[in-house]
Amino acid sequence: MKKKCPFGQRYLLAYFLGEISGEMATRVEDHLRTCSSCQQDLAIFHAIQDTSQKMRREIETELEKVDWNELPMAIERKIQETVSRPKPIGWSWPLFLRWSTVASVIIGLILGLMAYHYLLRPKGEATRSELMYQVSGAFLERGR
Ligand SMILES: [Zn+2]
Repeated sequence: MKKKCPFGQRYLLAYFLGEISGEMATRVEDHLRTCSSCQQDLAIFHAIQDTSQKMRREIETELEKVDWNELPMAIERKIQETVSRPKPIGWSWPLFLRWSTVASVIIGLILGLMAYHYLLRPKGEATRSELMYQVSGAFLERGR
């Protein structure tokens, strides 16, 4: 595993989330110019953010496609068709494809969250409380 930058671990996420401003933000920006570890982490934060926004749009688009009033009737019609048709296999494909898209989007989202989580906890068990401390530390320093 790559070596983590202590400054980045303490301030980078808060900076990325816009919770640091003023002098402290300038310090982070100065640091980012010289620290490749933090540059990489920030790029990953942006990539995760872009991906999750894109996935959210995809989910919204999928949900908009569903006509919730029409849906029960459409299912009813499909069942009728299936009953009256000798080969019942084909009809379920479009619905299945739609759900597989939603499922893959959700799996992607979970993987993204896991990656995010992993980034926040690079050293194992102890880091959760550390992180809480770090974030509140950043909050406290904002006012100075
Ligand atoms: Zn750094």
